[in-house]
Order: sequence, then C-alpha cells, then structure tokens
Amino acid sequence: MSDADTRADTATADPAGSARPETEVCPGCGAVIVAVPGPASRVPGASASCAALFEVTVRGLREEAAQDVRTAALLQLATDAYAAQHLQDGEPAAAAVRLCLWLERGTDPLRAGELAGRVDDAAPRLHSRPARWTTTVADLAADLDVVDLPALVPSWADAVWADWGPAHPAVRAAADAVLAASR
Ligand SMILES: [Zn+2]
Repeated sequence: MSDADTRADTATADPAGSARPETEVCPGCGAVIVAVPGPASRVPGASASCAALFEVTVRGLREEAAQDVRTAALLQLATDAYAAQHLQDGEPAAAAVRLCLWLERGTDPLRAGELAGRVDDAAPRLHSRPARWTTTVADLAADLDVVDLPALVPSWADAVWADWGPAHPAVRAAADAVLAASR
C-alpha cells in the first residue's frame, strides 16, 4: 500500500510534538493518505483526502476531455473505477455495472450519459463489498511518475472489476439487462 505523503519533513514539527503529518484511511478503498485540511469529502464513501487525490490525478483528463473523445472515454473509465471502489453498502452498484459494460461488453464509455437511466434502474444493491483492493488511487498517483494515465487507468479499472469478483454474476445480469433495453 502506498501513501501520498509528501510532507514528511521533520523540520515542520509543530510545538505539540506531532512531527508526522496526520494520515487517514479511506473508508472506501482503504488507501492511507495524508489528511487534507478543509471541508469533509463530497464523495460519501470516500475520505476527503482520497477524493481530493482522485481529483488531482484526473485533473488533466478533465481539462482535455471536451476536446478529445479518447480522453473523455478514459475519464469515464477512471470515474467509474473510482466510484466502484467507493460504493456504500446497499447503494445501487451503478458504477460496477458501467465497468462491466465498458470492460466486458465492449460498450463505448461515451454512452454513459445515454445509458444512465437504464443503468440506475438495473443496478443491483450489493450487500458485501470487496474486503481489499488490488490497486487504489494512491497507487495510481504513485505510479504516475513513470507510467501515464492512458496505461494506468485501464489496468486500475481491470483490477477494480476483478476485485468485485463475487458480485460478477449479479452485475453482469444487470449490464445485459441494460443492453437488452437499449436495443
Ligand atoms: Zn478511497
């Protein structure tokens, strides 16, 4: 497990004696990330630091997505991989259904908007989440120095989908229902 600790400078020790930056464990993906000051996370299943790290990581994709369809598709894949790692218990697993569509059914991620209503209707409520994740956004951020996002995002999405293994039958059935309804 990696952490995004870039502030471990002991020279910044505060008078209270806490030399090490505070870290927090993301309740969704389990990544241990240096806590960021500011308001609580806007992503219900994620720690504020994890949600912020995701935003920083995909910022370049967001800036280019309007001009480039391949970047837009990559951003959609990253968004769904992240969301599928931060589903809350009992919440409809729409992000997992979308991952199945993009990764196993060959559906174009750019159809996400068009399919949104059907995905929401079909998404199963899963009551057990993966206990551990192979790859998190912290791993992704750590690897960005040496590998770029067009390579990292698809392998991250594949890993998230594989981690959801026990739920594959339910999610595949939902994905197929979406496709059947959109013919
Ligand atoms: Zn997280």
